[in-house]
Amino acid sequence: MLEINNLHCQIEDKPILKGINLKINKGEIHAIMGPNGSGKSTLANVISGHEDYEVTKGSIYFKDQEINELSPEERAHEGVFLSFQYPVEIPRKSKGQEEMPSSEMLKKIREKASLLEIDSNFLSRSLNQGFSGGEKKRNEIFQMAMMEPELAVLDETDSGLDIDALKIVANGVIKCSNENNSVLVITHYQRLLDYIVPDFVHIVMDGKVVMSGDKDLAKKIEEIGYDWLKKDNS
Ligand code: ADP
Ligand code: MG
Repeated sequence: MLEINNLHCQIEDKPILKGINLKINKGEIHAIMGPNGSGKSTLANVISGHEDYEVTKGSIYFKDQEINELSPEERAHEGVFLSFQYPVEIPRKSKGQEEMPSSEMLKKIREKASLLEIDSNFLSRSLNQGFSGGEKKRNEIFQMAMMEPELAVLDETDSGLDIDALKIVANGVIKCSNENNSVLVITHYQRLLDYIVPDFVHIVMDGKVVMSGDKDLAKKIEEIGYDWLKKDNS
């Protein structure tokens, strides 16, 4: 599904990613953890094709196609979803396709809303009415469900996710993931990984994956932090 080889990237001439290797197969859930400023969000942005980030070395393959040169829109059409990137609009048209007839669209909306246990009052609320943190999460997860991405990248490092928001994210990921898609969840919170049980956990420090393991690695980090990894890798 996704294969990243020796990825280097910089922002305004400052190197941020310094040789990331990562392979995610179909059907797998991967988690990325790491200290603040280690490059996690940068990695998410580079995967989605954000223009501020200059890839200086290495490659990103998605479904066996190199995507380094594709725009964010093209990547989205290929099936890459990044949480927060497309905050309101549910895409109705994709390249070379007719707009989805509204009855089919409605059917899909109802199906996904019921899957995620979202009630219809919520869906009909105007977007500028203001949403709580949990409601924003619900929106985002609903958009993910509508897009049926083959690769969902969820960057959950920002802002204090309360337990309800955490469960909304986890529930959505669990309901939407299957043997044909993959999830990359970036988080500070080991707690999220109690709900979304990842197949693999990767620790990113100073722009590199310094250790990979299973869900127990996340537990270990929660208990003893990152310092022991620093010593191993300096
Ligand atoms: P993390 O998500 O792991 O906390 P980030 O990927 O957000 O880390 O940031 C990694 C480094 O890149 C930090 O030093 C940060 O200051 C820098 N950085 C990230 N985005 C930008 C940007 N748009 N402009 C300048 N520097 C940035
Ligand atoms: Mg971040």
